Formats: sequence, C-alpha cells, structure tokens
Amino acid sequence: MSSIDEGIFQLSQLLEPNTRITVLTGAGVSAASGVPTFRGKEGLWNKFRPEDLATPGAFARDPKLVWEWYQYRRELILKCQPNRAHDVLATWSGRYPDFTLITQNVDGLHERAGTLNVIRFHGSIWDVGCWEGCSGSPHRWNDETVPFAEVPPPCPHCGGYLRPGVVWFGETIDPEVLEKSAEAARCDLFLTVGTSAVVHPAAGLISESKGHGAFTVEINVEETEALPYLDLALVGKAEEILDRVERMPT
Ligand code: NAD
Ligand code: ZN
Repeated sequence: MSSIDEGIFQLSQLLEPNTRITVLTGAGVSAASGVPTFRGKEGLWNKFRPEDLATPGAFARDPKLVWEWYQYRRELILKCQPNRAHDVLATWSGRYPDFTLITQNVDGLHERAGTLNVIRFHGSIWDVGCWEGCSGSPHRWNDETVPFAEVPPPCPHCGGYLRPGVVWFGETIDPEVLEKSAEAARCDLFLTVGTSAVVHPAAGLISESKGHGAFTVEINVEETEALPYLDLALVGKAEEILDRVERMPT
C-alpha cells in the first residue's frame, strides 16, 4: 500500500460513533464546484489584491468597486453546486453525534449540501448588513438578491449603504463564533480540508486542537503551514480523498 492509501485507511478507522470530530474547511473544498480559491494557482488574489477589495478601508474608499466584486462572486456561486467533498462531510454530520464543521467559506455550499452543525467563521456572502450599523437594522440578515438593481444596495432601514455580511481582513470574528470554535477544537479528531492555513485566527485552531490532544489530519493538494501541527497529511483533492475515505469498508 502507498502512504496515501495507508493514510486514507487510517483516517477511515478513526471515524467512530463516539469520536468527537471537528472539521475546518477552506476555499479548496469548493474548488471542484467552480468557486475560485483566493490563493494557490487559480487563486483570485493573483488577479486582485485583497487589500483593494476585502477590507473596511476598501469599502470606505470605493463601495461600488467592492460591491461589484461581491456581486460577481454571488452570481458565480449561485450557479455552483456542492461537490463530493461537501456531500461526504454532510453525511458525516448526520452520522456522527459529536460532529462540528467550522468553515471559512462564505459560499453557503456546506449548508446547501445539508450539513448539520456548521459554524460560519467568516460570515456569509448571502448575508448583508448596514454599513452605518443603523439602530433600526439587525446586525446581519439574509438577502439572496442577484443581481441587485444598484450597487451599493440601499439599507431598507436608513437608506444608507448595505455591506456584504462577510468578515473582512482587519475585522474581528464574532465572539460567539470564536467561543464555539474554541470549544470544537477540544476534540478527538481535527480534520483541516482545503485551507491554506495562513488566515488567523482560523488557522490557529489546528494547533489549538493538537494542544488538546486531538489527532490532526490535513487534506490539501499541497503541503501547508499547518504541517508542524499535523499527525497525518493527505496530499490530494478533497473531493477525491473524502470520497475514498467514505467508501473504505469498515
Ligand atoms: P485559500 O484560497 O487561502 O486556500 C485554498 C487552499 O485550498 C490552498 O491551500 C489550496 O492548495 C487548496 N486547494 C485547492 N484546491 C483544492 C482541492 N480540490 N482539494 C483540496 N485542497 C485544495 O483559502 P482559505 O484558506 O479558505 O482562505 C481563507 C479565506 O478565503 C477565508 O477568509 C475565506 O472566507 C476566503 N474564501 C472563501 C471562498 C469560498 O467561500 N468558497 C473562496 C475563496 C476565498
Ligand atoms: Zn441602515
């Protein structure tokens, strides 16, 4: 058996009804669905600079440009379907009683695949909020309009600008999300899938879980900065490796 076969077998053996399983996903999980990643060969950041588009400063400078980019991504994601990686993780979420999925993805594909117990670390591209944070509006709400008649779309409560309901670079993570994620890092098996593991604090969850004694596994098409904290690195496509793990006879 090659080491990848052994690794796939090893991971399949760790999945048991009483295993506390936490999965952290990143853009690589959605790559096979046609959603571009930020980094890596086909990454969006090769064409755009994040600091031009995904920061509060960028929105303050040019809200129309920022919205055009999010509008483009909303249109693109709308046409995408969950792939085998989303489907396997959704199956596990229903099968294993102590399963948590933390995603950095904002595309909503885990939810569309029917995954239970999802923590959305970086918000959702399908949510919006008032840029001014006006008192009449909730912090975030769902609005799946594609395309908006005008960008930036107006806040229905105050008439000011709406902003995308995602967490931008330089913004803090919702404290409740941080707390739930820290709790989920106390697990038996921590699996990181399709993330470059450079965006903190999400990437820190891998070492945190290791510190709590979890067995840590990575699935990625290339080695990442998480390597020092890993017990097992499976190099390959998420949709292929997860499919093989799921089809492994028990
Ligand atoms: P990233 O773009 O930094 O890294 C993607 C990783 O996926 C890379 O390490 C790459 O090697 C790997 N990869 C590519 N194809 C793969 C495949 N088929 N199987 C397994 N691995 C594969 O993404 P990230 O780590 O999630 O970056 C964090 C930020 O990017 C987050 O803030 C997130 O919100 C944002 N983001 C989200 C989406 C989305 O919602 N789909 C898309 C792009 C970026
Ligand atoms: Zn408002």
